[in-house]
Amino acid sequence: MRVILAQPRGFCAGVVRAIEIVDRALQKHGAPVYVRHEIVHNRHVVENLRNKGARFVEELDEVPEGAVAIFSAHGVAKTVERAAEERDLDVLDATCPLVTKVHVQGRQYVAAGRTLILIGHAGHPEVEGTIGQIPGTVLLVQSEADVAKLELPLDAPLAYVTQTTLSVDDTRGIIDALLKRFSDIVGPDTRDICYATQNRQAAVRDLSSQVDVLLVVGATNSSNSNRLREIGSESGLPSYLVADGSEVKAEWFEGAHTVGITAGASAPEEMVENVIDALRALGPVEVSTMAGREEKVEFKLPSKLLQPLVAREV
Ligand code: SF4
Repeated sequence: MRVILAQPRGFCAGVVRAIEIVDRALQKHGAPVYVRHEIVHNRHVVENLRNKGARFVEELDEVPEGAVAIFSAHGVAKTVERAAEERDLDVLDATCPLVTKVHVQGRQYVAAGRTLILIGHAGHPEVEGTIGQIPGTVLLVQSEADVAKLELPLDAPLAYVTQTTLSVDDTRGIIDALLKRFSDIVGPDTRDICYATQNRQAAVRDLSSQVDVLLVVGATNSSNSNRLREIGSESGLPSYLVADGSEVKAEWFEGAHTVGITAGASAPEEMVENVIDALRALGPVEVSTMAGREEKVEFKLPSKLLQPLVAREV
């Protein structure tokens, strides 16, 4: 069997930064440090950090007063920031800078007197965080059908922003529907869908024409991983989302000669290796990587973690 790896795939700059923040916080403060929500949507990443001393909580009332608390890459609502202040928590914010950019854009539109429409998936932590960062009403739309249901005057001053990890194609359809229906609507100059999501989706589209089966390494609650699997399916390929090699099933590859593998932005490369090992257990495998874009994006760490450690008085 031939295996072709997508390029690019796996960790994005926002995920690398978020994991680094937890690692450095543990080095600087010692265990435990508290992380609100899964730092990124990947069980292996979370387990690894838990083993080093990170404690994952859903809400800040589970964090002892004055302790170190880290916000996940998805971002948080203003109410969470305020709750952290009230509890005197030492906060490290791992919100991806590209998510923060959407928050800033949204606030600017509202300050200019526009009603904000957020294109995203209900219940996703990034969406909850973005809604909670905007003063005033935010209308969530998830599909073109939702656009038709919006009860707004057709000439109302509106603006839209999007979740960073949606399908480029789906978003285009929803934005077109908004522009068609409403006469005074603006959006960001450049799309909010992040560079990593766009690059991974473009790579999977290319890869889909070269393979018989597509495997996407990622978690079921990872938005960008789900979109990658959908793109494979839309290209007519049998496409499967797997967390690691243990979920790979032999029957998926009957009659298949070439398997494509990609990984969501929160999936570690070790899990891609683990999936290749599972394929090797089925028979000989020849692995290559498709020609694709090299990513060089890096995000700065919070300044608190760049300061040298201060010796404590004994
Ligand atoms: S997928 Fe994009 S928005 Fe999300 S953490 Fe990565 S770079 Fe940031």
